[in-house]
Amino acid sequence: MTTIAWKCYRCDLTFKQETHANLHKDICKHEPREIRVALA
Ligand SMILES: [Zn+2]
Repeated sequence: MTTIAWKCYRCDLTFKQETHANLHKDICKHEPREIRVALA
């Protein structure tokens, strides 16, 4: 199974919630990319 997360490649940070990704975009002006990650 996979789920969607958002990754900022500049900071090498992964966000599991879109709201957090949007916050990062607002604060840092980076655009996190949507990625698929395997569920543990
Ligand atoms: Zn960033």
